[in-house]
Amino acid sequence: MDANEFRRRGKEVVDAIADYYENLDNIPPLSTVSPGYLYKIIPNEAPETPESFEDIQADLKTKIMPGMTHWQSGNFFAWYPSNSSFPGILGDMYSSMFNIVGFNWVCSPAATELETVVMDWLGKLVGLDKRYMGIKDDGTEGTGGGVIQGTASEAHIAVMIAGREMALERLKAQGLSGDEADKMRHKFVAYFSDQTHSAGQKAANIIGCKTHMIATGDDLRLTKQALQAAIAADKAAGLIPFFVCGTFGTTNTAAIDDLPGIAEVAESEQIWNHVDAAYAGAALVCPEFRPLAAGIERADSFNFNAHKWMLTNFDCSALWVANSTHLVNALSIHREYFPPAEGDTSFVKNYRDWQLPLGRRFRALKLWFVMRMYGASGIRAHIREHVRQARWLEEQLLADGRFEILAPTVFGLVVFRLKPSVIAKGDKDVDLEDLNKANNDLVKYCNVDGRLFLLSTLLKGVVAVRVAIGSSFGTQKNVDLVLDVLKESASKVIAEL
Ligand code: PLP
Repeated sequence: MDANEFRRRGKEVVDAIADYYENLDNIPPLSTVSPGYLYKIIPNEAPETPESFEDIQADLKTKIMPGMTHWQSGNFFAWYPSNSSFPGILGDMYSSMFNIVGFNWVCSPAATELETVVMDWLGKLVGLDKRYMGIKDDGTEGTGGGVIQGTASEAHIAVMIAGREMALERLKAQGLSGDEADKMRHKFVAYFSDQTHSAGQKAANIIGCKTHMIATGDDLRLTKQALQAAIAADKAAGLIPFFVCGTFGTTNTAAIDDLPGIAEVAESEQIWNHVDAAYAGAALVCPEFRPLAAGIERADSFNFNAHKWMLTNFDCSALWVANSTHLVNALSIHREYFPPAEGDTSFVKNYRDWQLPLGRRFRALKLWFVMRMYGASGIRAHIREHVRQARWLEEQLLADGRFEILAPTVFGLVVFRLKPSVIAKGDKDVDLEDLNKANNDLVKYCNVDGRLFLLSTLLKGVVAVRVAIGSSFGTQKNVDLVLDVLKESASKVIAEL
């Protein structure tokens, strides 16, 4: 393919993408193919001779499309959203154009410096404390800063490694030699709640530390008291606490942990305090949500996925550290093939030292496009409209009388179920098993309907239905639909009792 053909085909592809987005509401969001469907219909070896663009495009339509679940559909209400936007796509197209591997400043100074700048923009946009800024108000370099990771899971591993480094330094400051401190690693414990995303456990598995999963109460929040008790028990058993993760917007219910309480404990125990706001962090672009995030200003690191609810195409997980020393010390390995920048290097960041892999894409571009083309006001409007829709759905579900809300609707997530009284037969109390089955059936009927996709979760043994509103392309029409389908499906479940 030469540049001229690329020009022609590229325009066709842009048209196809625009058509796809315009028609998303007419496509069932959930793929219903059976496992292995694709292996049967595509060759098991790459072609020896070149194939035409038309043939590949035809296969995309007939073979790939049926196996796609359409995350960008306004009728996709499962998990959490994974926003796409036209400015985000355009920025990513330029990133593909450059196709750099920006591990060091010299690999592409603009890529590194734009990342530092847009991460400060984004940090200010979500009201982060100045400690997290890469460039201070007086123009000098900050001790902290932002870095774009692929996912919240990668961010989690990176900061856990930084936390381990901090703990090792602490042990050395207490008089242990480097070797002696290293030998204590097997005693290191990371703290999570039973609502923390699995990314925390995975990070701990990867770095090989112990974990203490703390049980939450009915509000599904990690509290200061529970954390203190867990740490005290572990210290009494000779273990060494080194890391805690609080969540701002858990995956199950968007619950918010006691972040000020966690910060207090982390400070007194001198352990790394990470705040995972993968989903809900985007809401902080709206000042009215910031009081809910009190405590973040005292953490060591904070992360949210701009690719979840902030219009930026996957992958764009924004991570800030208040002090990059431990992260960089833990992840920096010098080799002669990593040439340093020359001249005044005070602003030079080598982002390979802030992340797990070496190579990295120019992801700052799409974030820059999004922030400039929507403006802060456009991003706030995006968030506020979804929150309005979620609260509207909650009201309608309550007004229907057959549903009960299981967790506060704070952001774009509505968590509910069919009421026990609706499932109970006669005067008998309903069994949890029957209640859970009815709610699983509710979700099944909604999805079998084919017009939308949503999921349930389990909250301490209770099946809860989750409707996560947040598609960049969704409107009130889509939320009207989810309400209609929920009501119809509820009638079906009740009729079958
Ligand atoms: N943390 C929370 C609270 C999440 O909800 C999720 C995913 O939904 C993650 C972490 C993991 O995100 P990622 O896929 O970016 O690793």
